[in-house]
Amino acid sequence: MTGRTHDLAAATLLFAVVLSQPLRPIALSTAAIALLANQIGGIAPDIDQPTAPFWRNLPVGKLFGKVTQAVLGGHRFLSHSLLGFAIFGFAVKTLLAFLGPILGQVDTGLVWWAFMIGMFSHLVMDSFTREGVPWLLPVPYKFGFPPVKRFRVVTGKKFESLIIFPGLIAINAFIFSSNYEKIITFTHAYIR
Ligand SMILES: [Zn+2]
Repeated sequence: MTGRTHDLAAATLLFAVVLSQPLRPIALSTAAIALLANQIGGIAPDIDQPTAPFWRNLPVGKLFGKVTQAVLGGHRFLSHSLLGFAIFGFAVKTLLAFLGPILGQVDTGLVWWAFMIGMFSHLVMDSFTREGVPWLLPVPYKFGFPPVKRFRVVTGKKFESLIIFPGLIAINAFIFSSNYEKIITFTHAYIR
């Protein structure tokens, strides 16, 4: 999947999870940083790809990308597995604990969840692509849906831009419209 599909998928899953919970007031800084963490999580597994959006935006990103790719075992390897998911989770938790004092009011627990939700959405979305995802590393098998490769999505092709991307927008419209009253009550009660 392309970077923008991953970004949208990460936000979609985040909204779905948040709105399935009873809403409670959070600091605006927490919401902003959680959203950012969610978007980073949504593309983080592709740090094993030198051309990933994650690296493209950095000046020496291409070089770092190549090094990271070698360390993580090439594209769609460690960072695209449950083991990698756990390692990233641990690393981000450690980083947030370190940044905690600087972030002040920010609820780093929620920021961590937002990152993890973003990263999980990435693995799910990549599972729909022809290449599949090695969910159970070190078991070297790449899983995908549907199981027959021929019916899966090719990254960046028409099916992704014409069906999957608009489909995610439609899911967002559904999530927001079906939670409309909840959102209105929440904004009236807590945002002034
Ligand atoms: Zn990926």
